Amino acid sequence: MDTIKKLSAKIRDVKDFPKPGIVFKDITPILSDSELCKEITRLMVDRYKSQNIDAIVGIESRGFLFGMLLAYELNIPFVPIRKAGKLPFRTIKHSYDLEYGSATMEIHEDAIEKGWNVIIHDDLLATGGTADAAAQLVNTLGGNVKGFSFLIDLTFLNGKEMLKKYTSHIEALISY
Ligand code: AMP
Repeated sequence: MDTIKKLSAKIRDVKDFPKPGIVFKDITPILSDSELCKEITRLMVDRYKSQNIDAIVGIESRGFLFGMLLAYELNIPFVPIRKAGKLPFRTIKHSYDLEYGSATMEIHEDAIEKGWNVIIHDDLLATGGTADAAAQLVNTLGGNVKGFSFLIDLTFLNGKEMLKKYTSHIEALISY
């Protein structure tokens, strides 16, 4: 079986989580399969290895999993973006609207050097609001968003539309 088919088979749909009407794409079964984790990482590494990327930015919390593996394999820094109040050093913040209310994401102010080319990674692209907030933080620090990398794209939510102002390189291993 090829990697994408194996990946698809390991994504578990959990209905009505975290609230009624949402089908949550649970990636934890992937993490139990170390061979599959290696294959997924290899696919992403092959995509970016010749692109002169300076850092991988991972979005809390599931973006840390393959984001860190990708950075490790590319021998480049991994930079976490977290929800407000979690990062210990000086940060810059960006708030964005959710369906109900708003959320704030943070990055350490010294995490990205001006002119760095970065890839933003998360497990899943839905409406694009979270990745958009991450891109704004990267831009504020003087980084260039060279691409977005997701395991999963819920295409019916049109997240790519929100992100295309940064780059046309918006990749997902699997789309629904
Ligand atoms: P959005 O900002 O709407 O693109 O939402 C993306 C963020 O929310 C990512 O960090 C995802 O991990 C999470 N997320 C949104 N919808 C789902 C879903 N159906 N299953 C799993 N995670 C989701």
